[in-house]
Amino acid sequence: MQLPKALSAALAAADENYLIGLCNKGTVNRAKKDLAVSASPETMPGQDGVTVRLGDISCLITAPLGESRCSCPSSAICRHRIAAILWLKGRLDAGPDPAAPPPRPEFQELRAYPPEKLAKQLGSKRLSAALFRHQSGSGPQITEASVVTVDMPWLPACVRLLEPLEHSTCTCHSKVFCPHKAEALLYWQLKEGVADPSLLQPAQPAGAALDLEAARGVCRAVQEALAAQLATQSLCIGPARAADSYLNQDAILSAALASKCDAIHPGYGFLSENPDFADRCVQAGLKYIGPSGDVIRKLGSKSAARTLARSAGVPVVPGSDGALKNVRQAKALAEE
Ligand SMILES: [Zn+2]
Ligand SMILES: [Zn+2]
Repeated sequence: MQLPKALSAALAAADENYLIGLCNKGTVNRAKKDLAVSASPETMPGQDGVTVRLGDISCLITAPLGESRCSCPSSAICRHRIAAILWLKGRLDAGPDPAAPPPRPEFQELRAYPPEKLAKQLGSKRLSAALFRHQSGSGPQITEASVVTVDMPWLPACVRLLEPLEHSTCTCHSKVFCPHKAEALLYWQLKEGVADPSLLQPAQPAGAALDLEAARGVCRAVQEALAAQLATQSLCIGPARAADSYLNQDAILSAALASKCDAIHPGYGFLSENPDFADRCVQAGLKYIGPSGDVIRKLGSKSAARTLARSAGVPVVPGSDGALKNVRQAKALAEE
């Protein structure tokens, strides 16, 4: 049978793995059974490919094979299309050695996909985990034939990458480029040296560039949270109630001393504007990262800060001289 050149090439290159990649093993097996019991289908070569009639179903098989169409309502590659492809494959003129496996594809599209795009789709947490898996040799099982099969049991998902890339499949059955496909393609690119792991590292947490170790005081409730995991150590400073943990100066100081910290950064809110805490850190021999207790005392109160600024000759916005004592004074000043 005379087939368009592109279609013959696509049929010759499509081994069982590729067909499974287009749909799944069950569909391929069902298609084989259908074909075994059906009468020889009618075929009609046309402009776009070959129409194959299987009973009252009609399939248009084109190259790439993933773009073939069927009269049934399935939007995915169905058993009819696979049966039609298998039948056409059987009609191909046998080459010099029909048993020889088809040449391994170049996977140009898989190579050309921008790694940054994959990194972005994965997000920094999944990307870090993927780079760690790749570097520690605990990555997925990757097998390459007519398709690239990437088995990621920890997700769990098994992705079959094929060309055209949009016809790749995932065991999650997503029709779009799901995060599993992105992760699978990234592992393959890393293995092939297409993606450079050093260029993909997500932003490091603050402090990493200075080679600082960070111990984070956390309450029990967030001990498992990401912030705590990013620190080199996380120290439990008490139960979830803030008064018993983040505002518990004794607990924080003893955790810092026990873990041999040099300095304390108070974070935001909680004790960060507490002058006594700043003083106690210094008394305990720890550096307090922030203003001294004295400065916090002077600037913590807005009216005291204003008085201080004026005494130093710094211009301030119009207002009263010192704190007002009652509503009557405030009204009078507002009318001025
Ligand atoms: Zn169909
Ligand atoms: Zn998926």
